[in-house]
Amino acid sequence: MIDVSDLAYEYPSRRALDGVSLRVAPQTITALVGPNGAGKTTLLRCLAALAPPYAGTVTIDGLDTTAAPREIHARLGYLPDFFGLYDALSVRRCLTYAGWSHGIAPALTATAVETAARRVGLLDRLETPAGELSRGLRQRLAIGQAIVHEPKVLLLDEPAAGLDPQARRDLSTLLLALKDEGMTLVVSSHILSELEDYCSDMIIIEAGRIVGGKAIKVRDVERPRYMLELGTARSDLADFLKGAGIDVIEAGGFEIRSLDTMYLPGWRPATFNYWGTAVAR
Ligand code: ATP
Repeated sequence: MIDVSDLAYEYPSRRALDGVSLRVAPQTITALVGPNGAGKTTLLRCLAALAPPYAGTVTIDGLDTTAAPREIHARLGYLPDFFGLYDALSVRRCLTYAGWSHGIAPALTATAVETAARRVGLLDRLETPAGELSRGLRQRLAIGQAIVHEPKVLLLDEPAAGLDPQARRDLSTLLLALKDEGMTLVVSSHILSELEDYCSDMIIIEAGRIVGGKAIKVRDVERPRYMLELGTARSDLADFLKGAGIDVIEAGGFEIRSLDTMYLPGWRPATFNYWGTAVAR
C-alpha cells in the first residue's frame, strides 16, 4: 500500500531524511518510532504528498506522490501533530467543512458526516461546539475530519500526545476498528508502551535514517500484565524497577512522567503502591 524507495528530504539548512526505504502492507497499523527530531513528521509529510522528495520515490496505493499529489490526497487522511479545530463550529459543521474540503458533493456530505461521527464515537455530540470538547474528544473529531472522505490510508502524527490513559485506550480501540474496516494506518509515537496495543509493525527512525523495524506480536490477553499509573513524576523509575529485578516490558528509555503508563509482567500491584495505583488489564 505504501512504498518508499531511497527517499531524501532537505530543509534549507539540513537534510532531514536520507536513504529511507520502507514498505507498508495494506490493512496494517505501523508505528513510526524515534526520538525528537528524528524525522517522523517530515516522513509523514512526504507520505502525505505535502512535502516533495528531494530524491527517491514515495508511492501510495500505486500512485507516485510527485506525479499525482491530488489523487493521493483523495485516498489519504492526515492528522498533523498540532492540528487545529474551529472551536466555534459544532462537530457537525467541522466534519461538514472537512468533507467539502475533500471535495465530497453537497448531496452526499450529510451521510459522510454522520458516518465519520459514528466511526469516531461522536454521533451524540454532533451539535456540540468543538471548543467544548475534552482533549480526547477533540482528538477524535480531528481524526473524524481526516477520515470523512473514507481514505484508504490514514497517517497520524503523535495522536496519543496529551491524552490521559483512558483516552489513549479509547484511541487504541478506534485505530484497531479503522484497520478492521480496511484502512492502512501509520502512527508516529514515542510512547512505546501502547504501541503493542494496536500496532502490527514498527519502523524505527533516527537522524533521518531507518535504523530498525520489526513485526510486533499481538498482545497476549491471557498473560498477566499490569499497568502502573504514576501519581508523581519519577524519572529514574525504570532503572529502579530493573535494579529491583522487575522485568519492565516497556518503559521506553524515555523519562516517565506523571500518569505515563508502564506494563510489567507478573508483577504484584501491592509492591508499588508507594507511587500510585496499579490496574490489572
Ligand atoms: P518530533 O518528535 O520532535 O516531532 P520528528 O521526529 O517529527 O520530531 P521532524 O520534525 O521531522 O522530526 O524534524 C526532522 C529534522 O528536521 C529536525 O532536525 C528538525 O530540526 C528539522 N526540521 C524540521 N522542520 C524544519 C524546518 N521547517 N526547517 C528546517 N529544519 C527543520
